[in-house]
Amino acid sequence: MFESVIDAIGNTPLIKLRRASEETGCEILGKAEFMNPGQSVKDRAGLFIIRDAEAKGLLRPGGVIVEGTAGNTGIGLTVVAKALGYRTVIVIPETQSQEKKDALRLLGAELIEVPAVPYKNPNNYVKVSGRLAEQLARTEANGAIWANQFDNVANRDGHVRTTAPEIWQQTNGKIDGFVSAVGTGGTLAGIAEGLRAKDKSVKIALADPLGAALYSYYTEGTLKSEGSSITEGIGQGRITANLEGFTPDFSFQIDDAEALPILFDLVQEEGLCLGGSTGINIAGAIRLARELGPGHRIVTVLCDYGTRYQSKLFNPEFLRAKGLPIPAWMDQKTSIKV
Ligand code: PMP
Repeated sequence: MFESVIDAIGNTPLIKLRRASEETGCEILGKAEFMNPGQSVKDRAGLFIIRDAEAKGLLRPGGVIVEGTAGNTGIGLTVVAKALGYRTVIVIPETQSQEKKDALRLLGAELIEVPAVPYKNPNNYVKVSGRLAEQLARTEANGAIWANQFDNVANRDGHVRTTAPEIWQQTNGKIDGFVSAVGTGGTLAGIAEGLRAKDKSVKIALADPLGAALYSYYTEGTLKSEGSSITEGIGQGRITANLEGFTPDFSFQIDDAEALPILFDLVQEEGLCLGGSTGINIAGAIRLARELGPGHRIVTVLCDYGTRYQSKLFNPEFLRAKGLPIPAWMDQKTSIKV
């Protein structure tokens, strides 16, 4: 029995990805983070950021937690905050999926939608959330804190202390590679740190979507971005505090046309309906498998569930408008007559 929903965060299963494994001759395993109570990998960051603020005496009972997020961190923070008696005020770019906004409102977050503008713009959602936190710290009776997931290393620490040891234990220490995309970098840098502490030879790879600048940074030393991606929650343009001190062994740039068919096949052939960032992650795992050769075991992250993007990723009209591949089954109505 769990004392509260908080204890249900983490200890997620590792699921073998059959087709990716068969195609590469490797064993490709996905850490099923969509099975967390807030249905994403970001529950861990929410929990560790709140516990860290409590330990530092920054968060008072009934206090407000303010955050800028593509959605999942807001959901994770709100699940934990509700269980512990805090409020959340969440700033989200209006371009993020309706499903994530609905989930945030349903869970009781106070939601502020802002236009999607680049990080250097003072009206970027992260900067708006930072200013709002300062303001609410002065005006709210019980105070307010800024979760600041990008530069708060309690986020990365959650993965060093929980996700990496779980993966190590679940694989009995037999793991050759780990790969993931980056939003804040907490997942990739944290799991890399935790696994490398156990075994220096584990190969760590970045899977970067188009429009992100980390692929060029780790391959050429300069932050350059080109193109775009319909994936949400990933695609970083700067070295966040969570990425400081981290270097991958391999970096891959993955476009949506490579990632999406993997997701569509997983629904039909393996019963797994997953979000866009997971497509980038699995494509990255396949690339790493090809680098390492057959016979290796590679782990990646199944970040969140596909229903969170039903109106986009799994909507033929949306895909058609973006010029992206549409699987035949998605357009089909039933052929069964009753
Ligand atoms: N996938 C999704 C769907 C996410 O919401 C996020 C977090 N923004 C990530 C991947 C990346 O995780 P991290 O912030 O730990 O780099």
